[in-house]
Amino acid sequence: MDIKRKCISCGESKNRNEMIKITKEYASGNVVIEPNSKIFGRSAYLCYNQNCIDNAFKKNRINKILKTNSNIDKKILEDLL
Ligand SMILES: [Zn+2]
Repeated sequence: MDIKRKCISCGESKNRNEMIKITKEYASGNVVIEPNSKIFGRSAYLCYNQNCIDNAFKKNRINKILKTNSNIDKKILEDLL
């Protein structure tokens, strides 16, 4: 059974495989985009669309949700589209 994940931008819930996963690893504090199953941390999810990526970066929203100061590379997310 799939667990629904909620997009941090539009609030829509979708299956895990329909979302971009961004995780701040507990151990290192590094932010990992589409982490493998060995990485555990605080995660945020986004739809695969430009609007949701743009909104996530407005007002540093994604950093606030992940509680990080890391410079998350928006380009990497856009390359997934
Ligand atoms: Zn969305």
